[in-house]
Amino acid sequence: MLKKVLIVGGVAGGMSAAARIRRLDEQAEIIVFERGEHVSFSNCSLPYHLSGVVATSEELVLTTPESLKSHYNIDARVRHEVIDIDRAKSEVEVKNLNTGEVYREAYDKLVLSPGAKVPVPPIKGLDEVSCFTVRNVTDVRRIQECLSETEAVNVVVIGGGFIGIEAAENLKMAGYEVYLVEMLPQVLMTFDFDMVQILQKELIDQGVKLYLNQAVNALEEGHAVLSSGEKLPSDIVIMATGAKADSALAEKAGLELTERKAIKVDQNFLTSDPDIYAIGDAVEVFYALSRQTAPLPLAGPALKQARFAADHMYGKYTMNTGYIGSSCLKVFDYNGAVTGLTENIIKRNNLQVPYDYVYVIPSDIVSIMPGAENQYLKVIFEIPTGKILGAQCIGRGDVVKRCDVIAGMLKFGPTLEDLKDLELCYAPPFSIGRDSVNFAGYVGLNILHGVIKQVHVSEVRGLVESGAYFVDSRSKGEYDCGHIKGAVNIPLYELRQRMDEIPRDQPVYLYCRSSTRSYNAVCALQNSGWDNVILVSGSMLGISWYEWFEDQRTGRDPIVTEYNFN
Ligand SMILES: Cc1cc2nc3c(=O)[nH]c(=O)nc-3n(C[C@H](O)[C@H](O)[C@H](O)COP(=O)(O)OP(=O)(O)OC[C@H]3O[C@@H](n4cnc5c(N)ncnc54)[C@H](O)[C@@H]3O)c2cc1C
Repeated sequence: MLKKVLIVGGVAGGMSAAARIRRLDEQAEIIVFERGEHVSFSNCSLPYHLSGVVATSEELVLTTPESLKSHYNIDARVRHEVIDIDRAKSEVEVKNLNTGEVYREAYDKLVLSPGAKVPVPPIKGLDEVSCFTVRNVTDVRRIQECLSETEAVNVVVIGGGFIGIEAAENLKMAGYEVYLVEMLPQVLMTFDFDMVQILQKELIDQGVKLYLNQAVNALEEGHAVLSSGEKLPSDIVIMATGAKADSALAEKAGLELTERKAIKVDQNFLTSDPDIYAIGDAVEVFYALSRQTAPLPLAGPALKQARFAADHMYGKYTMNTGYIGSSCLKVFDYNGAVTGLTENIIKRNNLQVPYDYVYVIPSDIVSIMPGAENQYLKVIFEIPTGKILGAQCIGRGDVVKRCDVIAGMLKFGPTLEDLKDLELCYAPPFSIGRDSVNFAGYVGLNILHGVIKQVHVSEVRGLVESGAYFVDSRSKGEYDCGHIKGAVNIPLYELRQRMDEIPRDQPVYLYCRSSTRSYNAVCALQNSGWDNVILVSGSMLGISWYEWFEDQRTGRDPIVTEYNFN
């Protein structure tokens, strides 16, 4: 008997499921319902049309219903919304949004890929101003139209997640004054507080006005009013307050939901109804590292779940090995990537996992090559096993590669030993002989085995304020250009002549530019009998990045005489 498969949602998950089903079954009748105007558009590229990087909105649309019919015999119906599921009769009720006609369509199997909605906070005056989300091609077209029709100058972006950041970046690139407002103490919660400081500074350096720990309380003609009372000039508002599973249809049909109101699925992406699958942003996934179930609103997982569900429908079973969560983004001239657990995730979910982390700052390619850039790599590992839990990498160069290498290992339970031994491709234009991931392995093992002791950049302010003893291992010239207040300058090349100046009766914290020279100084001192020497992980670069933004935001006294970012 012919199988009839209906699919709700015609973009990432939905269209991928349709295409996979066609490859598995030439005879099946496949109908895709999409309430929007387009199927299969590039959601992830939407923000790049705001700046013109993607020149026309037509380019965002990857295929058409006509092409889907002719190439794949898939019946894709745009502006058709599924408004109900009659599970007893295995039928859906569909509304043609062009004509208003409502009709029913029977199914053998149903796939739900309705995506996510932007949770809109209750802001006074929201309905009286021009406010947009960035979810589909129609949204970005409307934004463009509104910007040019109103001759807008000021844009307020509410929400500092990756869509808010990308919208802010692209609107700034297009020449608008952009005000980015985030309720939390940092943007991009996918990154840890220490790491995200680099991206926050980049936003500010590029002219985005960043407001943290602030909510937009009210929208008035020409203004957004913050919780502090401050008024920001605002011609249009972009609402980028996150992604919440769109489970309304599933809920109405009586399908089980999770606590967070996502569509509940089993390991095969089957809902509580054995004829209905659900995938993508509308479901939660099992995280292999935290052993918890949570949303993962990203394109890659949605596409893979589509294949997984289609295969399962046809008896081709695959292991659900869980998800680790890997993502990346560009923020003007910087790139950031993250995989696996972060400190934010560990703390937010109260995971009972003892951990420490390494923070290394090698060059991304051989430093004498044109275009070489610092790379900031943080690798979190479990104590006492040395098992790697996650990594974050930020820099101007190819940081995604470093995170991808670690992401590739993460499902196989790698340890710092594995990281150290990774044999990666090397030539000067691409990387360094021992890549940053190798370095993270070396340093991590030193920490794990107690070869050296370290403090993190987040601890330095407290130490400075309590009068701790710091030694700066850089040259006098570097020291004069900026150092930790009160630090003693003993360059590495003078250390062996000046060791007697280093006290033995109190902790001594050593730093340099990126911790290479200070690590060598720590080794020299330890090998000469000092047991009280501690490396400042991240050193002057790490401290500068960590301190700068909060110094500017709060006006507090800096702990360095000058910052050093290069
Ligand atoms: C601006 C933006 C940038 C992004 N950037 C990235 C990125 O860089 N990397 C990354 O990994 N992910 C990114 N994402 C996330 C990624 O696009 C989503 O995770 C992915 O599209 C989810 O696929 P999905 O099929 O679940 O939902 P979607 O692709 O959103 O598709 C759901 C579709 O279902 C339709 N629908 C809902 N209900 C009904 C109904 N009842 N009847 C008919 N149709 C219905 C909706 O109109 C929608 O078009 C981005 C998302 C956005 C919005």
